[in-house]
Amino acid sequence: MYRIRLHGRGGQGMKTAGRILGTAFFLEGFEVQDAPRYGAERRGAPIFAYVRAARRVINERGIIRRPDLVVVADDTLVPIPAAGVLSGISEPAVLLISSGIKPETWQERLKFPGLVLTLPAAAEGEDRLASRFIGAACTGAAARLVGVISRVSLAQAIRDELAPLGETVVGKNLAKALEAYDLMAPHTGCVREAKERPADTYEKPRWIDLPFEDASLSAPIILAPASSEAVKTGLWRTMRPVIDYQRCKRCAWICSTFCPEGNISLNQEGYPQIDYEHCKGCLICLAQCPAHAIRAEPEREAAAGVEKGGGS
Ligand code: SF4
Ligand code: SF4
Repeated sequence: MYRIRLHGRGGQGMKTAGRILGTAFFLEGFEVQDAPRYGAERRGAPIFAYVRAARRVINERGIIRRPDLVVVADDTLVPIPAAGVLSGISEPAVLLISSGIKPETWQERLKFPGLVLTLPAAAEGEDRLASRFIGAACTGAAARLVGVISRVSLAQAIRDELAPLGETVVGKNLAKALEAYDLMAPHTGCVREAKERPADTYEKPRWIDLPFEDASLSAPIILAPASSEAVKTGLWRTMRPVIDYQRCKRCAWICSTFCPEGNISLNQEGYPQIDYEHCKGCLICLAQCPAHAIRAEPEREAAAGVEKGGGS
């Protein structure tokens, strides 16, 4: 059975990528499961989708814990523990990352002994969520790496899944997917099907008996108010709003009112300040600022600037 996990950010098309890949396997005669996993988040939040494909009935359920192939549409997700990109990955699994960084560098950084491959990424300075065909490229590359999906089945799967979006969208996705499919030709079939463990080798669950408690004792009680603040949604950001205080007119009722997350407060001098731990990077504040005092910077560059002692 092939077990494939596809990671990306909401808006990068990885849910659709999983569906296309699943359909392509199906067209090759495989039994398939494909499902996305995400919460009630918005664009930019880490999400993943997974695909299982086998020549016989698949009894396994749930998320894939030991993948044979992990595909990452956005390399900024790799170091984020909450994204779970590296969860359960070990040799001989293959790691495919859309990144401008060389595979050897990733291998060294991650101390991963297995095969690491890269796909061309969004250019530096470009909003990663604006690279619209990364999902298609990831699908095409993954199809080639497993080595059992033909160009014909890949193309058919894209047409089947994207037909409602119109011929133009289908054509552009097809072109990107086939380009990535050809790019990965030297690595055709490098992803191996992992052996399935027979059910009788599974470790039996260890039961722990708990005494019955009334709901007033057994249910969780959240005593602290506003606990959602503990979720650092700033991790979802791909572009960072940066305020130019030379231009700012201190009309902060505008930017602070329009921020849908209430992340803009005033400092003692009456200038707006952004809570980057929770700012999700929607850039509504930038669009609304009448003085054009807010600019957008790619998150990775902005974060590196702050680490070097810069800031906004
Ligand atoms: S809307 Fe623009 S000019 Fe006004 S306070 Fe906010 S950042 Fe400054
Ligand atoms: S980008 Fe601006 S409007 Fe959007 S969450 Fe961040 S501070 Fe608020």
